[in-house]
Amino acid sequence: MNEALYDITIIGGGPVGLFGAFYAGLRGMKTKIIDSLPQLGGQLTALYPEKYIYDMPGFPEVLAKDLAEQMIRQAMRFKPTVCLEERAEHLTRRDDYWIITTNKGVEHATRTVVICAGAGAFTPRKLNAEGVEAFEGKGVYYGVRDKAQFEGKRLLIVGGGDSAVDWALNLYPIAREVVLIHRRDEFRAHEQSVAQLRQSPVRILTPYELRRVEGNGRLERAVIFHNKTQEEVELPVDAVILNLGFVASLGPIKTWGLELEGNAIRVDHLMRTNLPGVYAAGDVCTYEGKLKLIATGVGEVCIAVNHAKHTIDPSAKMFPGHSSDMTLPALE
Ligand SMILES: Cc1cc2nc3c(=O)[nH]c(=O)nc-3n(C[C@H](O)[C@H](O)[C@H](O)COP(=O)(O)OP(=O)(O)OC[C@H]3O[C@@H](n4cnc5c(N)ncnc54)[C@H](O)[C@@H]3O)c2cc1C
Repeated sequence: MNEALYDITIIGGGPVGLFGAFYAGLRGMKTKIIDSLPQLGGQLTALYPEKYIYDMPGFPEVLAKDLAEQMIRQAMRFKPTVCLEERAEHLTRRDDYWIITTNKGVEHATRTVVICAGAGAFTPRKLNAEGVEAFEGKGVYYGVRDKAQFEGKRLLIVGGGDSAVDWALNLYPIAREVVLIHRRDEFRAHEQSVAQLRQSPVRILTPYELRRVEGNGRLERAVIFHNKTQEEVELPVDAVILNLGFVASLGPIKTWGLELEGNAIRVDHLMRTNLPGVYAAGDVCTYEGKLKLIATGVGEVCIAVNHAKHTIDPSAKMFPGHSSDMTLPALE
């Protein structure tokens, strides 16, 4: 038995991939999720964490970030392997299984694959300012992975959306100082968060942009400029956190030999693609009558996972049974 061989690998940890991972666990499958982002949740976490969703069964209204949190909790019930910050680049057949190779050069062996890649791999939108590339990962960061690394630091946060404002609010209690700059006077972030920000000790400077970062070996200062007057201001900083949104691209998935229709993967009524053992569900797939919604995506991934189970173990029924009749491991 090849320990590294998984029954099912889900590409994409958005709502659809997360529900797929839960279902695969319910079916006793050895499950892995791969996502290019540093966190799970897909569009809910990356694009609209502070927006209310009103069309989830059982939730008359729920904030996207809260729904993501609950879906992650549900997905983790059967402890799938989670590989973050890895973008699936190649899909190749070896004997009777698939190898997914990621941008880290890691090879993931799997009997079946469910592609839940949404609009494609999200990558942070980069800023083309002097010094930024050289200090990336060494003082300049796109997003926050570990809050603790900013403890006692002088921080410059760049951006006007929910992520920038949320991180400013999250970090000022542990940082030495937080300055937030945004290129417009109006913030895109949720108005309640912006109101909270204005009451906080965070120094807000608008309409300012980052011109360059400088330092001798380590980041020492950022030069920002008023984008109407061009006046420059030098700020002593230990770290710059850039929250400029994401760009999504299906990219390499388009070269895997899948039948495509525009930017989507064509599937049949069992969510099968044209490649054996490879399924697609959620925003990334298409068929007649397709709706790009969470409610329909999670239904699609149930079909995909249950069919994948039946494919690798023909004695297993396609119908999973009712979860209410099962005894599940405790939630964490
Ligand atoms: C502003 C906004 C509001 C919305 N409101 C609603 C609403 O009210 N109700 C509703 O039902 N829907 C809503 N939607 C749509 C909903 O968010 C999507 O239908 C849903 O997120 C699709 O889920 P998914 O899991 O298929 O894809 P996504 O959420 O896009 O997740 C895909 C994941 O796959 C990862 N990925 C992609 N390619 C790769 C790769 N090659 N390697 C590794 N990882 C990869 C991505 O990083 C991402 O995390 C809204 C969307 C937006 C933008």
